[in-house]
Amino acid sequence: MQYSRKFFSLFFAGMLAVASASCSAENEAPAASPVDSKLTEKNINAELKKAYDKYKGLKEGANADYIPALDKVDSNIFGIVLVTVDGKVYTVGDIESEVSIQSISKVFTMAKVTEEKGIDALPKNVGVDATGQVFNSIYAIEQNQGHEMNPLVNAGAITTTSMVQGKSYNEIWNKILGYYSDFAGRDLTVLEDIYKSEAATNQRNQAIAHLMYAYGHIEGDPLQATDIYTRQCSVGVNTKDLGMMAATLANAGTNPVTGKSLVNPEDMPEILAVMATAGLYDDAGKWLYKTGLPAKSGVGGGIIAVSPGKFGIAAISPPLDAAGNSVRAQKAIADISAALGGNPYEAAPYGK
Ligand code: GLN
Repeated sequence: MQYSRKFFSLFFAGMLAVASASCSAENEAPAASPVDSKLTEKNINAELKKAYDKYKGLKEGANADYIPALDKVDSNIFGIVLVTVDGKVYTVGDIESEVSIQSISKVFTMAKVTEEKGIDALPKNVGVDATGQVFNSIYAIEQNQGHEMNPLVNAGAITTTSMVQGKSYNEIWNKILGYYSDFAGRDLTVLEDIYKSEAATNQRNQAIAHLMYAYGHIEGDPLQATDIYTRQCSVGVNTKDLGMMAATLANAGTNPVTGKSLVNPEDMPEILAVMATAGLYDDAGKWLYKTGLPAKSGVGGGIIAVSPGKFGIAAISPPLDAAGNSVRAQKAIADISAALGGNPYEAAPYGK
């Protein structure tokens, strides 16, 4: 265990060094590797624009409506942001409109609990396996009495939120909101209409939390955990915030613009691994097959994806497919990453 964690940290640090070398080399000599040479300012801007133009008019999918307020969000919002690990920000489309972060928040609460309780706490309490079921599956809980799941499906996520340390609701909540804000590099706030709408209709999540309590995974009040979880899902983010949050994960846990370290670099490979296996729910396999990217979606229409040591990328577009993943965001991120050599499995000697 000790050996492999060290090994992965070194591997991660190595990838980072290669990537930052290629970025700073942009204005000097061309980068040596055929993969990294794709990551130039000109290429990034061109690929962002290409994907935006290609998918702008796509009308597939529909806004989530099981949370009534999500159905009222403008379906036309479409923005894409890529942030390199040296903090350069590339944007196209609508980068100002805020949507609720929804399940993308689960990654950052997972990171918080990992930092507070250690790398083994979450695997022990909820597991790190893909369920193959929808994100709010009760069947997945019953299969293994709340084990063999992960922090990115609702049962695991509500349990993860219940594990954030704090003496009061407010202390826990302020810690979570502050942590998300540090990833984004600005003070985030809750979209109250979304929060109220979900809080009034989240009986299924309340049931999930009670079940996780009954199986001994949630220790405190399951309804408090559900409510803080609902609030964390209602945090408003624009595409730029999500791009910055993704880039912080790509940059070994340090915000590339503010320089604030938020995750121990040694913990990043495990966090990215859970994103890779479960970030797009029951479609996580298809996504990984296509892109190789650890990613996370939310029913608000956002998706973040991470090319470790290279860049974070995010897109927002509210209409979702049947698995609950934004149609346009998936397509745009997949195209851009492929064109820029973002797939971590494409490392030499396999490089295309
Ligand atoms: N708040 C939402 C829920 O619990 C989050 C789901 C999602 O984004 N997939 O249902």
